[in-house]
Amino acid sequence: MKIIIHGGFFSESGTNQEVKHAKQEALKQIVQQGYDYLQTHTATETVVYTVSLLENNELFNAGTGSQIQSDGCIRLSASLMDGRTLKFSGIINVEEVKNPILIAQKLQAAEDKVLSGKGAQQYARENGFDYYNPETPQRRQEYETKLNDSIRLGTVGCVALDADGNLAAATSTGGKGFEMPGRVSDSATVAGNYANGVAAISCTGVGEDIVSGGVATKIVTRVSDGMTLQQATEKTLTEMKPFDGFVGIIGLTAAGDIYYADTHPYMVWASYDENIKVFS
Ligand code: ASP
Repeated sequence: MKIIIHGGFFSESGTNQEVKHAKQEALKQIVQQGYDYLQTHTATETVVYTVSLLENNELFNAGTGSQIQSDGCIRLSASLMDGRTLKFSGIINVEEVKNPILIAQKLQAAEDKVLSGKGAQQYARENGFDYYNPETPQRRQEYETKLNDSIRLGTVGCVALDADGNLAAATSTGGKGFEMPGRVSDSATVAGNYANGVAAISCTGVGEDIVSGGVATKIVTRVSDGMTLQQATEKTLTEMKPFDGFVGIIGLTAAGDIYYADTHPYMVWASYDENIKVFS
């Protein structure tokens, strides 16, 4: 059994050691909780549970504490890929909910598995997801004072391998920060979040680059076709060089291989197989 989580990139890392430390501590605690949960739950249940914990922690740009978009609203996106059933479900740009990953989980059983905007919100309300404002004073202040910063990333994700050898991936985001209303993140696409019986990947970074690189699904396909996780990841990242793609990935295979890579420094992530390891 293995689990890896990420807390996205954090541009503050160069200057704000306190934030970096707080994020590392939070990841350490959450990866432990996720690993404990995995003892008695499937990989799919575990990635949902673990991402919901990350969404509830306001340090990260997902769920509570998400970035505010250019028009002052918060829109959340999340997706779940079950590597056993090979079903993908997701929610794109939903407003005023607490845990978008739980809505994505609910959609696994629906006929229409990826919903966006108002329709997504209506589905959420009909299925018992009550009104919730994910804004924090910190994000409002950042929105008001840092309007000119170009990159403010911090998506969360989780990949897990359960006792039965099944894999799953879940990813959740408030977006890249200050985007146009209507902009679609990679996090609720198969470019940003994908798993099958062989490998599971969750991405963070600039959604446009991740979609252009077809990252998660490409890596998983390459591993399925015989490459190692490392080879598949490196090749996929090399293919993003011509457009200076900005991406970070966490990956896990059914054989228990773990790999992590980023094109730019400062992705925070943590893994738990026999011991907790926290990285950035
Ligand atoms: N990938 C996310 C997006 O572009 C942002 C992030 O990873 O922080 O919406």
